[in-house]
Amino acid sequence: MSPARFFSMSDSRTTPAVNRVARILVEAVPDRPFDYAIPDALVPVVKPGVRVSVPFGHRTVTGVVFELADHSDHAKLKSIEAVPDPVPMLDATLLKLAAWMADYYQAPLAHAVRTMLPGAVRRAGARFKTQRIVRLADETATPAGITPVQQSLVTVLQGSGAMPVPELLKRAGVTNAPLNILAKRGVVIIETETVTRTALACRTVLRTGPLELMPEQAGALATTVEAMEHPPGVILLYGVTGSGKTEVYLQAIEHALQKGRSAIVLVPEISLTPQTVERFQARFGERIAVLHSNLGDGERHDEWHRIRDGKADIVIGARSAVFAPVRHLGLIVVDEEHEPSYKQEESPRYHARDVAVMRAQMTPCPVLLCTATPSFESWANVERKKYLLSILHRRADDRKLPAVRIVDMRMEAESTGQIGVFSRELLEAIRRRLDRAEQVMLFLNRRGFAASLQCPACGHVVTCEACSIALTYHRSDERLRCHICGASHPVPASCPKCRDPGIRMGGVGTQRVERIAAKCFPQARIQRLDADLTSRKQVYEEVLGAFRSGKIDILVGTQMIAKGLHFPNVTLVGVLHADLGLHIPDFRAGERTFQLLAQVAGRAGRGDVNGEVIIQTYTPAHPALVSARTLDYDGFAGPELLQRKELGYPPYGHMVCLGLKGASERRVAVSAGELSGALSARLSAPAVVSPACPAPLAKAKGLFRYQVLMRGPSVRRLTDAIRSVLKVVSLPRDVALAIDVDAIHML
Ligand code: ADP
Ligand code: ZN
Repeated sequence: MSPARFFSMSDSRTTPAVNRVARILVEAVPDRPFDYAIPDALVPVVKPGVRVSVPFGHRTVTGVVFELADHSDHAKLKSIEAVPDPVPMLDATLLKLAAWMADYYQAPLAHAVRTMLPGAVRRAGARFKTQRIVRLADETATPAGITPVQQSLVTVLQGSGAMPVPELLKRAGVTNAPLNILAKRGVVIIETETVTRTALACRTVLRTGPLELMPEQAGALATTVEAMEHPPGVILLYGVTGSGKTEVYLQAIEHALQKGRSAIVLVPEISLTPQTVERFQARFGERIAVLHSNLGDGERHDEWHRIRDGKADIVIGARSAVFAPVRHLGLIVVDEEHEPSYKQEESPRYHARDVAVMRAQMTPCPVLLCTATPSFESWANVERKKYLLSILHRRADDRKLPAVRIVDMRMEAESTGQIGVFSRELLEAIRRRLDRAEQVMLFLNRRGFAASLQCPACGHVVTCEACSIALTYHRSDERLRCHICGASHPVPASCPKCRDPGIRMGGVGTQRVERIAAKCFPQARIQRLDADLTSRKQVYEEVLGAFRSGKIDILVGTQMIAKGLHFPNVTLVGVLHADLGLHIPDFRAGERTFQLLAQVAGRAGRGDVNGEVIIQTYTPAHPALVSARTLDYDGFAGPELLQRKELGYPPYGHMVCLGLKGASERRVAVSAGELSGALSARLSAPAVVSPACPAPLAKAKGLFRYQVLMRGPSVRRLTDAIRSVLKVVSLPRDVALAIDVDAIHML
């Protein structure tokens, strides 16, 4: 395909010589760059990463220069029209990273670049906010021969000094005209200045210095600092909540700054709270920039430019901050590296932790991955000796980890004769804590509960024998399907294990928990916090603020309240139905459940009173629960990883999920079948391609969804197969395909 067909043929330029061609990415056709000629006048400013205006079709669009070349295969090239900002938006490393992302995650190159640049920066009209400031030319002189109206302006300025034009006009109660006359006569000077829209709260934060490190912390710091000097690598910093990981990386950042280098700290969006930011402000003051999804366009634009222009050298942000345009990058920290929210669920479907590792390798600089429950991917990389490991074994304050108890809800049901939301043990514990005016968190892991069948009597979950994951219930045809191998079974009339006919969709929602808790504890102040409520960030902050200041006794929530929050007065954490997350059709179900339980347990007892955790479950023998009781990560990871290895699941292989959707189920199913067939024909063992299968979420927003799962030891082989198949299999126009490389959710 030649780009020429997008252009009129009237341009008579021939292919120019040495570096007179720029390969430019435009969003209209995102797959690849288009060649443009660089006019003489623009030669000095057209560089890779620079934003340019170019003719495209009949319009002028904004594009980004990807690379320069000395010739083009196309005879006639259009010319770049203008360069609005000569400073590159992306440096050479980021451009290289974009190319890697596009290739690895099978996304159009222009989309990779777009992902790196916030809209507020990329758009043609993006600019700084400016204001006009008036001051007296000579503050001591009394200007002669001016009218009373003009004098009133001068009087205000003499009293208060320089100020923005609108404010002056308002205070003097006059219009623009007299001010303009004063300016013309040189009595006042009007200047335009940039107003920085900052996301940082304007409150002053008490500065703190580094703490004296404990020996293990000092060791971890030394390893990181050494990695800044020598061939940099990735360090997994593994330690329970409160073991002082944050302190280690704060000091590692300080080292980077001393060497004149900058740092990026990624945190999950949800833990990007004012307290987190304050901790950084207290240590580093003005040098930090914050990037998160709640910034206004203006704030985002200005933060981004502060970073690019070197005015901020520590960037804290959620996923996309991994692309922050810092100069002289010296360290990337990924806090809570196991968090699934680091994966972007739209194209390009990148994983910020993996992109961080890649960016660091290209820079080069070290990466510090911090977590209390390492992702299996990172853990396996430690085993393969690709990553270094630093462990913090103790809590920094030597506080004990909470006591964790497991309540077997099957026995509870047996002895009480009913299936309740709260066990007697948990009720009793809540009562004890409330009596002592301590706080309680109740936590419900709700994700995916509707997808699997669990017997309320024995806790049995119907799973696929060949693949060891829960079968997914499909309401439409009353069948259970395996989303790995495609096996399909009718829904059993009674539990296959205990023959109880009550097998059914299990599940309680947070609202129901809240209601029942209110009935049991009428005096307690109870508040619910879940995704329904927190679509408004303000509500989330308010509720957490009220909880922190003791205005709430019991906080009921989903996994959202498990993350990185610090409440000293919480002494009891109750987990209701801990196995909900275990039986989703995802081989990572056990890993996620263990991570969540460990996170939740970390919430209890962060103050002076020892904490207590009660976990209710129907499957107390599941390894994730057994290990959660003693917070035994190694004990959990060992056997799980062995099983993954045997099945070739990640981290011992890559998984690619092809998702297809469309309004016609038949066309979606046929397309999925064709892809699956063509891919199987091109790949051989150990690579595996699943048959086409309805997605666990079989229909969404009126569109039918199917998926094909591929796995194999080499991601390259899988994506090469996809590329070549897509050249021969053409999908109907109303069937959309999403390619998710290293998919972490299988819904
Ligand atoms: P993590 O990031 O592992 O959860 P933090 O770095 O937040 O741990 O540390 C937990 C608590 O212990 C914080 O209040 C922190 O100020 C304190 N702390 C960390 N390191 C030290 C140290 N070396 N000496 C004293 N207190 C420390
Ligand atoms: Zn199966």
